[in-house]
Amino acid sequence: MEGSMLTISLGIWMELPGVNYRDLTNGKHRDVTSDRATPEEISTYYRDYVKLKGLQKNFVDNTYVTSIQKLCRGHKAEDLENGHTDKGDGGMGGEGKGGFEGNGKACVKNGGGGTLWEVRGYRQVQNKTHVPFSLFAENVVLATGASDSPVRLGVEGEDLPFVFHSISNLGLAVSQRKLDRNSDPVLIIGAGLSAADAVLCACSSNIRVLHVFRKSVDNPDLIFKQLPKSLYPEYHKVYNMMCSQTYTNMAAPNGPQPESIASSVCAKICPKPQLSAGNLAGGTSAGLFPDYTSFPEHCVVSFQPDMNCLLQGNNSLKAFKVSMVLVLIGTNPNLFFLKGQGQYLGQDPTRPISCKQNPIDINQYTFECTKEPGLFAMGPLVGDNFVRFLKGGALGITSCLLTRLKKREKLISKGGNTFI
Ligand SMILES: Cc1cc2nc3c(=O)[nH]c(=O)nc-3n(C[C@H](O)[C@H](O)[C@H](O)COP(=O)(O)OP(=O)(O)OC[C@H]3O[C@@H](n4cnc5c(N)ncnc54)[C@H](O)[C@@H]3O)c2cc1C
Repeated sequence: MEGSMLTISLGIWMELPGVNYRDLTNGKHRDVTSDRATPEEISTYYRDYVKLKGLQKNFVDNTYVTSIQKLCRGHKAEDLENGHTDKGDGGMGGEGKGGFEGNGKACVKNGGGGTLWEVRGYRQVQNKTHVPFSLFAENVVLATGASDSPVRLGVEGEDLPFVFHSISNLGLAVSQRKLDRNSDPVLIIGAGLSAADAVLCACSSNIRVLHVFRKSVDNPDLIFKQLPKSLYPEYHKVYNMMCSQTYTNMAAPNGPQPESIASSVCAKICPKPQLSAGNLAGGTSAGLFPDYTSFPEHCVVSFQPDMNCLLQGNNSLKAFKVSMVLVLIGTNPNLFFLKGQGQYLGQDPTRPISCKQNPIDINQYTFECTKEPGLFAMGPLVGDNFVRFLKGGALGITSCLLTRLKKREKLISKGGNTFI
């Protein structure tokens, strides 16, 4: 999130057990929106939390996991190669060290039937050197979130250098003064809060904005319809502009002019957009940003190397020259480090994992993957998209591992060694 933004949730909704959010943020109160946090406040709270709770030893910074592979104890290596799953008990938590060759094909000959995971990756140290590591664990918790892979439009020209998929690129361009009020407009695609944040960021720097989204402004699924106005005034300002400053309404001499390519295509296939005087008045309401134009029910056809973007609306094609494009239509997890990108773990194994459409299938109490004993998942990966829901996942997993640990200790004290 950019520095000037506020979180959607109130700060206290994102606090962790045992440390009062208000205590650490000095009970700051700014105005009606003040109970929402700035990114700086919430990240400081989490950093301080780790220190206050003495958790530093549990964190290894700058470490990237590149592969998580299941090994099996007492099973033949062919099982792995054929992709068979081991339905045994995942065993206790913590890391286990085994005599593996490290290529994912060796098995411990005299072990029990439990699963063991080999986790590989590297740690980035000073001067960006990568130090590889490999460790073995009886249980692995996937908590890698869902922000790593931006959703793409899949249209021609999406890899051109002026097309970006993260709002941070806009912040960077503004701070480096690559964009200003004289630049061609920025094209922002998407009708969610990230796109709204980008609109706010551009408007606050007086950069002209073209805002394209597929939904109609009346669509009840628009996130703005679910946010109370008093708590989220900035998002309602964006929504107001989305409704009142549409291309049709703004097609005045000062409004955005399509490039000639569009005029020629347009003239052939669609009627020219009509100016609606009544709505135009709404578009210039106090507090709104005049150099903003929305394109509801439009989608992108292509981006051209000459920085023209071709848009498709209701029976019309339009092209606009832009300075930058931001595609902000959501993100997906990136589980590249798992077999088949972890797709087989999803509720629908035929589709990629997605926090909204296809979360990882878990046991609702233990958060263990239904298809992989010993592998757990929490957070957006299982559809828990807000910080306040994360605690449930962490508690469920901890409780499960503790119960298994106690069970195992009991068995060992009784003289059994079947799990070792
Ligand atoms: C713009 C934005 C605003 C939000 N606002 C709110 C809000 O107001 N309130 C709210 O409750 N929630 C909000 N959320 C959602 C909230 O951020 C998530 O629910 C929460 O961060 C999920 O926590 P997590 O630890 O599961 O995943 P993340 O916080 O996404 O953390 C995952 C971590 O895993 C790391 N990782 C990924 N792959 C690897 C790998 N291969 N190796 C090593 N590390 C890896 C990532 O680098 C990251 O550090 C917001 C999210 C976004 C994107």
